[in-house]
Amino acid sequence: MKEELYTIPVNEALEQDGECLFCTLNKKLEADILNYILGPSYMEEDIRGETDKLGFCKKHYEQMYGEQNRLGVALMTSTHLKHVREELKSLLDREAAQKPAKKGLFKKADEGGSPAQEYLAGLEGSCYACNRMESRMKSYIGTFFHLWKKEPEFIEKIKNSKGFCLEHLEMLLREGKNRLSDAAYAEFLSIIAPLEMKQLDALQEDVDWFIRKFDYRFKDEPWKNSKDALPRAIQRLAAIEVED
Ligand SMILES: [Zn+2]
Ligand SMILES: [Zn+2]
Repeated sequence: MKEELYTIPVNEALEQDGECLFCTLNKKLEADILNYILGPSYMEEDIRGETDKLGFCKKHYEQMYGEQNRLGVALMTSTHLKHVREELKSLLDREAAQKPAKKGLFKKADEGGSPAQEYLAGLEGSCYACNRMESRMKSYIGTFFHLWKKEPEFIEKIKNSKGFCLEHLEMLLREGKNRLSDAAYAEFLSIIAPLEMKQLDALQEDVDWFIRKFDYRFKDEPWKNSKDALPRAIQRLAAIEVED
């Protein structure tokens, strides 16, 4: 499958100079998806079909509920609920109609759950927004390595960036191994590794200075770079943005 190239959003996200390029991209994408879903324009039929079927994960329900547009959330919840009720009813009816198979004294180990139970298990964590973000992330990775191979200025921009959170660093190392030749991967690593370690070292210093500022002996010392060290460290470690 050919990946779409998203050079404009990737370059724009780089210019924002956040803690992690991919977290910046994800945040914008997430906001766009939720705005679209809750926005005033009528949702396209096929997307409505997807949200009816998939619903949302805990995080995205929470985010949507936190927005002002309760009507939008209610409309979508209503049709998703309808879909779930219909599916569940037919699975439960079918199960109820089945004659119980003769069981031995012990349950067979390979016996799966009931279809209704399996449906419910699949629904847990099923999320339209997460699905969209995941598939777009694949395109962003494609764009990243496309630019990395083709544009020396892009490599310069990455060198001057703050690097990546651990989750997205893992993704880059994995994808880099798959997408680059051995020599190109070695070169990639020789740029990414020092960049990342420099950022992590600085972050450690900032968090430790932040801790020190709780000590009364240091209360008149300047904050240096440590005021927002904790949210930056949490983002770097866990790919989430925490807000005050
Ligand atoms: Zn990230
Ligand atoms: Zn989600």
